[in-house]
Amino acid sequence: MQRQSADIPGASPEHTNQGKPAKAWLWPLIGFTIGYLALVAVVRNQYYQLMLTLVPVWATLGISWNILSGYSGLVSFGHAAFFGLGAYTLTILFVSFGITPWIGIFGAGAVGALAGLVIGYPTFRLRGHYFALSMLAYPLALLYVFEWLGYQEVSLPMRRDAPAAYMQFSDNRVYTLIALAMMIAALLVSLRIERSRFGMSLLAIKQNEIAAEAAGIDTFSWKLKAIVVSGMIAGAIGGFYAVVLLVVTPPSVFGMLTSAQALIMALFGGVGAAWGPVIGAAVLIPLTEILHAELGDKLPGIQGVVLGVSIILIILFAPEGILWKVRDMLRRRRGTDDRTTSAGPRLAPPDVGTSAVPARAGPRADAPVMLEVQGLSKSYGGLKAVQNVSFVVREGEILGIIGPNGAGKTTLFNLLNGITRADVGKVRFAGQDIFGLSANSICRLGIGRTFQVVRPFPRLTVLENVVIGAFVATRSDDEAYVQARKALVRVGMEGDADLLAGGLTTKQLRLLELARALAGDPKLLLLDETLAGLGSDAVEDMLGVIRRVAADGTTIVIIEHTMHAMVRLADRFVVLDHGTVLAEGAPEAVTRDPGVIEAYLGKKWSAHARA
Ligand code: ATP
Repeated sequence: MQRQSADIPGASPEHTNQGKPAKAWLWPLIGFTIGYLALVAVVRNQYYQLMLTLVPVWATLGISWNILSGYSGLVSFGHAAFFGLGAYTLTILFVSFGITPWIGIFGAGAVGALAGLVIGYPTFRLRGHYFALSMLAYPLALLYVFEWLGYQEVSLPMRRDAPAAYMQFSDNRVYTLIALAMMIAALLVSLRIERSRFGMSLLAIKQNEIAAEAAGIDTFSWKLKAIVVSGMIAGAIGGFYAVVLLVVTPPSVFGMLTSAQALIMALFGGVGAAWGPVIGAAVLIPLTEILHAELGDKLPGIQGVVLGVSIILIILFAPEGILWKVRDMLRRRRGTDDRTTSAGPRLAPPDVGTSAVPARAGPRADAPVMLEVQGLSKSYGGLKAVQNVSFVVREGEILGIIGPNGAGKTTLFNLLNGITRADVGKVRFAGQDIFGLSANSICRLGIGRTFQVVRPFPRLTVLENVVIGAFVATRSDDEAYVQARKALVRVGMEGDADLLAGGLTTKQLRLLELARALAGDPKLLLLDETLAGLGSDAVEDMLGVIRRVAADGTTIVIIEHTMHAMVRLADRFVVLDHGTVLAEGAPEAVTRDPGVIEAYLGKKWSAHARA
């Protein structure tokens, strides 16, 4: 099912059109707060008052999980580690040093943030389910460590001399108000992240980490920031949980159920949406608590069963949570299509789509060298994918890299833009040694890249896909949106800005990738089979766009199999075969080279060609 831009976190039309987040979240937040306060005012039963406190507590833990896992896609089964550390920090500060929980909560948040850093740094080396499973290990290890340290059961001392100063209230509703305030603070942090380059970068990582890196996003540092913020929120709410329960045991704060609750609240309510965990907690906590109260003695563990069944139902009927499901249903009822109208400023479109390819003078022979590659090699086991490759690219040039399948062309690009590390060699770009730098650093220096297999961020709109490429070259989000629109105009896609990338044609996807690379304002563009899969008209259009980009002063290196197009486009060819440079020179000369003909067609045909 294709979603509208409005349904995607950080992708509301208000956001995409103006380049500035509108405060669409404000009224739901005010409405929710007033409704909750009214409920707090009327509920007198102490058990239900505790339930009203637990809803924002678990919602806050769910929000913390969502900030890391919902936005970046790095699923954590171990958020109890942060929660438990927070709970024990506050408790130990209170019990051992007499520090009030009002301050202890900040200590708990700080320890949670630090734990995020310590856990995130090594664990982000892992991806996918390896990451998820290794996160599981942390709370389990901490559980045994705290038991071993003798903290099996620690009670918070009663301070009847100054109860309010030590967060000890006779009126349970005060706890609910504090929990609500903490949840609102966490929600505001989450909304802020969702609508900024922080959230957009996490979403890009979730959808395609390699493309995000190549677009200049420092994926490691954004992930680290996300786990620090997430750990801080989980730690703080863990500390408050200790105040509410007055007693802390390792299983109650580091146990599997705690980690599961964080995940289930977000999965049930809506993954990757700030409100998701709030909805999850508002439905599931009362349900499980009431069932536990009514049936707990006859059916012990009923809470776990209800949570398990809820998750199975959600996976079956609303895999991304009820928030997204309801939005999809409402949209279908309204009968809206997949295009949203853009009210943002328009820029004049260029004349894209004419079949005429602008004439080209080519670079001066004495133009300065922009990229210098020397003796670059990369092996995979016994296979030498790239062997001792050397060449230069001059400013303003369009250099074509050609060669038969498996010749090492894509590997060469991966080495040049830092996705893969070369075994040996030298690469200098604009006078600077870039060998061994990460993909995002190389992008920052001015090398943009597109991929042979297009790597869009399918759940983001065209404009948002391109904005992600613009972050590297801009300081503010507004500037990034302006830059992204300009890039869309350069490739003739300004009319498609609000379409979702998941539903684009091959030509649109190729143009989108080109625009995303252009948005970073590169000096050098590496285009990997940009014409692949296009019909002849689309090839002509694409050639026109590439020529125009070159005419604007961007140097281009392009890999392509479509020889008739390449001969018209490139100033010079470098031919690769079995990972080595077979020939180099002007297109006409190279295409007549018997060695090149043989590499492409085999000995028999090369003899024909000579005859
Ligand atoms: P095509 O035109 O078909 O895309 P190419 O010229 O781009 O081919 P590469 O994709 O660079 O060729 O591959 C060069 C060789 O290196 C191939 O034999 C390929 O199987 C191998 N290769 C590339 N990446 C890896 C990898 N990660 N692990 C092992 N072998 C690899």
